[in-house]
Amino acid sequence: MEKTFAMIKPDAVNRGLIGEIISRFENSGLKIEALKMINANPDIVANLYPDNEDWLRSVGQKMSNTYKRYEKDIVADMGTDDTLELGKMVRQWLVEYITMGPIVIMILSGNHAVDVVRKLIWDTNPVLAQPGSIRGDFSVDSADFANSAHRAIYNLVHASGSVKEAEDEIALWFGGN
Ligand code: ADP
Ligand code: MG
Repeated sequence: MEKTFAMIKPDAVNRGLIGEIISRFENSGLKIEALKMINANPDIVANLYPDNEDWLRSVGQKMSNTYKRYEKDIVADMGTDDTLELGKMVRQWLVEYITMGPIVIMILSGNHAVDVVRKLIWDTNPVLAQPGSIRGDFSVDSADFANSAHRAIYNLVHASGSVKEAEDEIALWFGGN
């Protein structure tokens, strides 16, 4: 059985969606192995998102693509179109977002748990997330809208993107416990 890590982010806790989100995970057939509500330490959040150039540029590139898609001027909003600089901004906004209020972190297990949870949450950008998914059903936020306000996309949940990410994130948030 595979394990994955998921987090109910502060916007979802604030909106009273903890029960709804946990239900969707449980209804899928996945098992909750561990779960706790915490206030995140900014140092841990900084470690959740990689500080390497590849990751920063990939996030910056996604942002740049969104601006192109909606024919908006990224330099006017962000002051730069350099993908590395954009990635660094997103990383800083993420620390602010995840420490905005309490969060719920959990370990889920089951057949292909990583892919199943990614399917349940769907696209990073809620306006592009399929109806029936958590992000698609409960948010209309988008990268361009969030970025013009200089903040992270409020997309309710985090989930590991690969088995390796899941191992690292479980160790980071649950330690040896
Ligand atoms: P996911 O959470 O779908 O795995 P990423 O790992 O690419 O997405 O990004 C991590 C988080 O950073 C996202 O969930 C979102 O909150 C935020 N984020 C990503 N891209 C942007 C962006 N262009 N602008 C603002 N926030 C972003
Ligand atoms: Mg990710």
